Amino acid sequence: MKARLFLAFQQVGADLFAAGLASATSGNYSVREREGLWITRSGVQKAHLTPDDLLWLPLKPDPERDQGASVERVIHRAVYRETDATAIVHAHPRHAIALSFHLGAILPIDLEGRYYFDQIPVVAPPTTSGTEEAARAVAEALRSHKACVVRGHGAFTKGTQEAPEKALLQAYSLMTSLEEACEVKFLERLWRGDSG
Ligand SMILES: [Zn+2]
Repeated sequence: MKARLFLAFQQVGADLFAAGLASATSGNYSVREREGLWITRSGVQKAHLTPDDLLWLPLKPDPERDQGASVERVIHRAVYRETDATAIVHAHPRHAIALSFHLGAILPIDLEGRYYFDQIPVVAPPTTSGTEEAARAVAEALRSHKACVVRGHGAFTKGTQEAPEKALLQAYSLMTSLEEACEVKFLERLWRGDSG
């Protein structure tokens, strides 16, 4: 892996944790490269990624290479197969997750959120981790949107820039905008006493 791509992975892992967008070992990030993807290893401390924590997988499942890779690899693969994504960030933004229990789609009300997202679809596959159903639902949503939230679980954002390190930072940046939009919406609904 090129040094600047590794540095982008390190930056995204550290910044998402520092921003409270993921707990120490949750979340996973990937970039598309050649006929495969670089993805974070399962269960590692994302704020302290080392080169060993990143694995290259082919786009098709490969039992040998897949060992140790994030369980959400099935979702990442489906998104690369079916959308224009060149990078994917998955995290657990708290206000987005809280809103996802009540909304079928999140429509931002703040200026920045409205600039980046027409809407943020909420998908609700029967199970939420590493399944084909979840993969299909997320890929479908990311075909026409930059981000989606899996109900009660977390958000996925995509980067589409050509250079993988730029695409990863683009997806990361969208995750911060998504959570900011969701926090503003959450607080505004709280102020209005609208919990439904
Ligand atoms: Zn997750």
